[in-house]
Amino acid sequence: MRTGSVLQHALDFCLPALCPACQIHSGAELCESCCNDLIPIEPPCRKCGSIISNEHGCQHCHNRGIPGIRTVSVRYAYAGPMRTLILQSKIKARRSALLALCELLDWEHIQSLEVDLVTTIPPSPGRRYGPHLASTLAKTIAQKIERPFQSCFKQLYLPAAQHDLPNHLRQHNTADLFKIKTKQNLPKNILVVDDLLTSGNTLQSASKCLRQHGAQKIYAACVARTTALR
Ligand SMILES: [Zn+2]
Ligand SMILES: [Zn+2]
Repeated sequence: MRTGSVLQHALDFCLPALCPACQIHSGAELCESCCNDLIPIEPPCRKCGSIISNEHGCQHCHNRGIPGIRTVSVRYAYAGPMRTLILQSKIKARRSALLALCELLDWEHIQSLEVDLVTTIPPSPGRRYGPHLASTLAKTIAQKIERPFQSCFKQLYLPAAQHDLPNHLRQHNTADLFKIKTKQNLPKNILVVDDLLTSGNTLQSASKCLRQHGAQKIYAACVARTTALR
């Protein structure tokens, strides 16, 4: 654990608990004001995780969804307190932020899925030591829905930042991003967990890899979506 993280954990332990997002209001959980500032994806497109903005369906994916992904479980847009919580948990390794994020998953939808195995998008190569948000979310889900967790993927390279690339290059950027770590055939229904959903290309690449090893129905769960409202 890095010195900064050790100090942060010591402070978290000694000081009175504050809302993990605003760090103003007291209490270890997300305060009422921050809860009210969350932006729900309502109603959600279950195919891509964006908001459905009119009667013609999803203007984001045009009802086509993310290739290879059957449904997406995500409740909030990546903005306001959600953005703060993700940054606090990823950069500052704050446990209270991590716990708050677990609470904000789309539990109702996740619990309605028929899943044999839960896996996670793995940490990027060369990532610094510390809690990995997507893995923590995946393990929390596995425990709650009483299904096994397995770390299935090895990430083979560090792709260029997706937001720096034009749309037509994004898919190519993540096309062969993963390798499956196990030689055994995978079960039929798999839930892949990532922290943040942006283009969906990472999930698409993960799905392709899982299918090559026997999986048939791939579901995705994320804690927030970056382009949910477009
Ligand atoms: Zn707050
Ligand atoms: Zn959609």
